[in-house]
Amino acid sequence: MKYDFESAAAAYQDAMVSDLSSLITIDSERDTDHATDTAPLGPGPAMALNSVIAMAERDGFTSKNVENVAARIELGSGSEILGVLGHVDVVPAGDGWVRPPFTPTIEGDRIYGRGTADDKGPVIAAYYALRILRDLNVPLSKQVHLILGTDEESEWYGMHRYMATQPVPDFGFSPDAEFPIINGEKGIVSFLLTQKHVAAAPAAITLLHFRAGIRPNMVPGRATAELQGELPDYLEAQLQAYAKVNHLQAEWQQNGQKTTLTMIGKGAHAMNPGAGKNAATYLADFLSGCALDLDPAGSLYLYTIAHYLHLKTAGEGLGINYSDRKMGPLTAAADIFEFSQDGKQSVLINVRYPQGTSADLIRDQIETAVGEDNYAVSIDGEDETPHYVPDSDPLVQTLLDVYSEHTGLPGKEGIVGGGTYGRMLKRGVAFGAQMPGAPDIMHQADEYIEIKTIVRAAAIYADAISRLAN
Ligand code: ZN
Ligand code: ZN
Repeated sequence: MKYDFESAAAAYQDAMVSDLSSLITIDSERDTDHATDTAPLGPGPAMALNSVIAMAERDGFTSKNVENVAARIELGSGSEILGVLGHVDVVPAGDGWVRPPFTPTIEGDRIYGRGTADDKGPVIAAYYALRILRDLNVPLSKQVHLILGTDEESEWYGMHRYMATQPVPDFGFSPDAEFPIINGEKGIVSFLLTQKHVAAAPAAITLLHFRAGIRPNMVPGRATAELQGELPDYLEAQLQAYAKVNHLQAEWQQNGQKTTLTMIGKGAHAMNPGAGKNAATYLADFLSGCALDLDPAGSLYLYTIAHYLHLKTAGEGLGINYSDRKMGPLTAAADIFEFSQDGKQSVLINVRYPQGTSADLIRDQIETAVGEDNYAVSIDGEDETPHYVPDSDPLVQTLLDVYSEHTGLPGKEGIVGGGTYGRMLKRGVAFGAQMPGAPDIMHQADEYIEIKTIVRAAAIYADAISRLAN
């Protein structure tokens, strides 16, 4: 190493903590209900964006505000552009915080607050990497653009506007995941299964409603079913017994002829559905195993969930289980359930698929499995195809070398089911700032980042940029 990036980063420790602290105080959740002309994604995202732009102006960098939904901070010159892509928005604070989510709290080496790890801390590290390179007069023969989006946690509107109106980087990385590197991301697509009309027939019990799920990328932790009719006396005890053996919680609420059953499981990110306990598939499994005299539509709906989806998070029930040697197995998470007797009867399944298959093929396979007489199967929303930068690419090689030299740890390629800004560029990856094996605190209560992680990331990013843009 020609330059002492470690010492240069250490000298900026207090400045980085101070700038990160001021950024944490801005609740930058996307909030389009309160959008204005100067804050198209809500006041928080625009305020966070302008706060980073103000830092760049304070420190004498050239910057560009793109419609208050994205921004760029510049260093270096040349015909090629290296992009460093981060975001300043956050997911909602959510419940369970012991410390305040939007007031920075420093305890030991940790700084707590929403966004500290995802992605405000790594953004500050990347920004100080630019300062370090400038301080040390490191020669650059390419342009370096630190590009910030303001709704990475939802629709990526800001980053899409940026790429549509600004020069697109030739290659780059996103400091929004973990080391050593994420050079492969599975495809992401959702399928909507809509139940077709089922001929009515007399039955003792009717499924009035079945509901679970709020977001297409979250396994539901809670599900409810509303039944009408005379239920067998033993059913409540059976529900509790079922919940007990499966380590779930269940609730039973009777109101005359109507009974509401609630199952409480465990939510999880859709890219790792096996880590959760899908409350909806458990509830459907319980109900369809009870031999109730249920109406035909309700019966088919519960059977489909129980038979094709319950505990089948690799898509094996739907015949879509497929694995690629490089990218690993497909995952299938049934995330939104809506059933009402005279209304919508659907299940939304979020699938993360490796290279070697396609959304259209998966759609056909699902339709074959559940039967096109019973369900219409459609792709819901966008199909984000798999993204992979080979480990032979100099970008990947260089980043892994830098990582290993700074940490003494081996570097190897990494594939995930999630999506990062890395996929915005054909030659784009995610690189840090969490260390491998560190507890996954992103999106959780009491999110934090270790100050030494920020300092180390700033040194690693400065070194990486110096080599990629030399
Ligand atoms: Zn996130
Ligand atoms: Zn992020």
